[in-house]
Amino acid sequence: MFNNLKVAFADKSDKDLNRAYLLFKTISNPLVSKTLSILTKLAIALRIPINNIVRATIYKHFCGGTTIDNSKATIDKLWKFGIGTILDFSAEGKESEEEFNQVMKETIVSLHKAKEEKSIPFAVFKPTGLTYFRLLEKIAANKNLSSIEKKEKNDFETRIENICRVANLNQIPVFIDAEESWIQDTIDNIALKMMKKFNKNQAYIFNTLQFYRKDRLIYLEKILEYAKKNNFFIGIKLVRGAYHEKEIKRAKEMDYACPVHKIKKDTDIDYNKALKICMKNINIISICAGTHNEDSSTLLISLLKKYNILNNDKRIYFSQLLGMSDHISYNAAKKGFNVAKYVPYGPVKEMLPYLIRRAEENTSISGQMGRELSNIIDEKKRRKSS
Ligand SMILES: Cc1cc2nc3c(=O)[nH]c(=O)nc-3n(C[C@H](O)[C@H](O)[C@H](O)COP(=O)(O)OP(=O)(O)OC[C@H]3O[C@@H](n4cnc5c(N)ncnc54)[C@H](O)[C@@H]3O)c2cc1C
Repeated sequence: MFNNLKVAFADKSDKDLNRAYLLFKTISNPLVSKTLSILTKLAIALRIPINNIVRATIYKHFCGGTTIDNSKATIDKLWKFGIGTILDFSAEGKESEEEFNQVMKETIVSLHKAKEEKSIPFAVFKPTGLTYFRLLEKIAANKNLSSIEKKEKNDFETRIENICRVANLNQIPVFIDAEESWIQDTIDNIALKMMKKFNKNQAYIFNTLQFYRKDRLIYLEKILEYAKKNNFFIGIKLVRGAYHEKEIKRAKEMDYACPVHKIKKDTDIDYNKALKICMKNINIISICAGTHNEDSSTLLISLLKKYNILNNDKRIYFSQLLGMSDHISYNAAKKGFNVAKYVPYGPVKEMLPYLIRRAEENTSISGQMGRELSNIIDEKKRRKSS
């Protein structure tokens, strides 16, 4: 289904391909990748300027640009191949009211941009870009809030509501990213409230469910029931989850039952079961399969066939990150499925945590070659032989 590499790398020149090869070859070595992560973190702490080298290498591969405007070339390039862009403003670990308001404004700007441009089908934000992590954690743990914290909570909810209102008015769906399990209840509660308020006619507000969590299938069934009873639509971005090691480490250190699966197959089973549940309820749910996994993407395609749903039905999207799994994105788009890629943008320095995660994710385990690297090598061979 996704193995046409000519299609997958259609927009890559030989030079682009060689650069990608060097990048993935470097980060696929666990020792090199770990050392680079440590050096990058050290350089940030010591304020050593590394922007230029990062910009020319890993940033160029995984990011759109420093602003929406200078991400335009990336947006246009994807759109030429029928792939939409989800503008992802880099906003992690913000720590001031001013920064939180800026993230809200930037998300709203992307919703307006999306209204103008067909190539931008969604907007997205991370809840930790809109308030303090410690506040989300305290609310999730049901602790009493001080009067200052009550105001902070109110401001956080207002920011989310402002974004969701514009999403609804502009008729552009917005994704709420999922984060660590110990703050996620706070996010889930407000996401559900927003869906109930703004998804009366169709899903404009999407929450994200991470299926490495053991409790997410039950949660999915629960919100489906709730939506049916209360007559609103559900929007769900399905992912496996990005904080696996962190979740296991914290549960161990604090001695509580680990909330995530420890066997990869169990995560895969839950993810695929969730796809089936969603497709069965497609009359009230819209989904975005945020995954680089071929089996899950193939399963979703077979489910569309099973339920006689058109490839380009707006309720179903496939999504990958920029610079990853182009074989899925480009091949699916060519067959007429809805595909959009997360295009992270922002100043180089702000993107470093995201880029370190991408490097770590693409590091091969026990010497096995990563998926990205082996595709690049195969395409290089294909070009040479043709
Ligand atoms: C468009 C998009 C949006 C995303 N949004 C979010 C988001 O909001 N929040 C978020 O947390 N992540 C998000 N992610 C990242 C995502 O959660 C995964 O980390 C990433 O996509 C890799 O998973 P995969 O489905 O591509 O499949 P694979 O590469 O097949 O699976 C890798 C994943 O499996 C899980 N896993 C690995 N080892 C084990 C193990 N031993 N036991 C159990 N499970 C294991 C982990 O979740 C790991 O990330 C997003 C990804 C995409 C493409």
